[in-house]
Amino acid sequence: GDPVLEVEHLSISYKTRRGWIPAVRDVSFQIGAGETLGLVGESGCGKSTVAFSLVNFLGSNGRIAGGSIRFEGSELVGRSRRELNRLRGNRISMVYQNPMSALNPTLRIGEQLMEVLTCHQTVSKTEAWDRAVAMLRRVYMPDADQIMARYPHQLSGGQQQRVVIAMAMLNHPALLIMDEPTTALDVTVEAAVLDLVEDLKQEFQTSILFITHNLGVVARVSDRLCVMYAGEMVEQGQVDTVFAHPAHPYTRGLLRCVPRLGSTKRALALHPIPGRVPAPLERPENACVFAPRCAHAGEACLQEKPAWIRLPSGHGARCVMAENLAQKPLRLERRSASL
Ligand code: ATP
Ligand code: MG
Repeated sequence: GDPVLEVEHLSISYKTRRGWIPAVRDVSFQIGAGETLGLVGESGCGKSTVAFSLVNFLGSNGRIAGGSIRFEGSELVGRSRRELNRLRGNRISMVYQNPMSALNPTLRIGEQLMEVLTCHQTVSKTEAWDRAVAMLRRVYMPDADQIMARYPHQLSGGQQQRVVIAMAMLNHPALLIMDEPTTALDVTVEAAVLDLVEDLKQEFQTSILFITHNLGVVARVSDRLCVMYAGEMVEQGQVDTVFAHPAHPYTRGLLRCVPRLGSTKRALALHPIPGRVPAPLERPENACVFAPRCAHAGEACLQEKPAWIRLPSGHGARCVMAENLAQKPLRLERRSASL
């Protein structure tokens, strides 16, 4: 079928004391019906900026500098705040890293869930209550009636995130954006929430944009993968293909340190690749953004931005070495690198 979301050549800037800074540059991806796209990259690479731009949530100093966002066939860039507010929480919903940012500490869970229903459609109080309870049961909260009567602070972090997911699913959105939904949870709770996401995906056929810095998590929940580095998209394709034939040195660096799920999930935060992501104003203008950290970088990489290469495997990467690297097993490279 037609893609639910089509993002093309999206660029986003923030206004700061030093002028407009380009935080995201020329990012393109699509999400099909029922498909999950994993968006990965280290801190500061622009993942949340992309997510917020989709629902016009960038804040007063952010703006879409170029490109297009088509959702269910119609353009979102340039639509009024009011029109976008109507989509948000309804056709498109978001789950953030910190569940408390989505919950009102002064309202009972029941009131908050019911409000999500009543503000987008005409439903009676009884019906809203019943639907909220049913959704809490679906996110594996069997004691739903008791949860409805509680305040957010009376729930554990894992329970809060389940409530937020229930809230996000209440209006059966076409697109669910999850921005690091399990990063703040401990590993056992994380595993349970990831199971839940997979079940909901099966049941509701919702398209999901799943943002994380953890490739192990991506492998588990995503069909396709988009790797970002310093505001740019460096590799994209089916998860299996990218894992089997990683073509960009940055993706390869990340893959070498994928923590096994359930093990130390902080491993990736330890900067797997020497160096750090350059801040927006430090990024090379007419060069590969990854070149300063890249073991393979040559003269050409410093003189112009590499083109997007489509590989025989069917995926794509922005690197002059892409075809070569995609054929190189990661393990051999690891051995030679340690010599
Ligand atoms: P993390 O993994 O830490 O959540 P991220 O990939 O989500 O990181 P963003 O939060 O999108 O990254 O930030 C991308 C870049 O834009 C960073 O350099 C950040 O400092 C900058 N940025 C984000 N929000 C703003 C803002 N409101 N004003 C100015 N700069 C911003
Ligand atoms: Mg973020």
